[in-house]
Amino acid sequence: MKLIFLGPPGAGKGTQAEKISELYGIAHISTGDMLRSQMREGTPLGAEAKGYIDRGELVPDELIVAMVAERIKEEDCANGFLLDGFPRTVSQAEALNGISDIDMVIDIAVPAERLMERIGGRRMCSGCGAGYHTSSYHKDTCEKCGASLYIRDDDRPETVKHRITVYERQTKPLIDYYREKGNLSRVNGDNTPDRVFDDVAAAIKGLV
Ligand code: ADP
Ligand code: ZN
Repeated sequence: MKLIFLGPPGAGKGTQAEKISELYGIAHISTGDMLRSQMREGTPLGAEAKGYIDRGELVPDELIVAMVAERIKEEDCANGFLLDGFPRTVSQAEALNGISDIDMVIDIAVPAERLMERIGGRRMCSGCGAGYHTSSYHKDTCEKCGASLYIRDDDRPETVKHRITVYERQTKPLIDYYREKGNLSRVNGDNTPDRVFDDVAAAIKGLV
């Protein structure tokens, strides 16, 4: 099973992707997590991506496409994968067409006015990159590895505003792109995580 999760920053893609990929035994591929882990490790790709990410801009398509193309060749993708945060531009979607077929695209829709407050509560582990939200997690260390939590530089309000604009301009057109292809499903992301999960799982059920 090959899935794409679309949706604005703060829609809850990562939270849902983690649970859905586990349920179906498919690889969870988050381009944001991959880039942040490259930055933590100080690789050349991480160094190149950092400037774009901190400014709230997209990392150039060719870097991202090459990274994803390599990733989906790995063994854990044999059963399928869930792309979280990719594609983010029409040009990335067209490149993906040449690399793999896709069974379903799920758009997790959340109204723009809800995104700022959601992202404001986001915390990330400095050790393993796990994500948390202050509404449901009240400690300042990671439950998985014990390292301290921090606020991502690109989660600061000014940068978030820009990321939402970038989403509207560059990523939102993908909703129509995939609707025309006929494999788009929309889920209301403005609900509790459990309710969103049920709705996403119901959308996928038709496939399996
Ligand atoms: P969010 O889930 O809040 O949207 P991500 O963790 O997915 O954030 O992405 C963080 C940043 O990483 C983006 O703002 C962008 O700079 C970069 N990035 C991630 N995925 C892509 C992509 N497919 N194309 C270009 N840049 C990307
Ligand atoms: Zn951790």
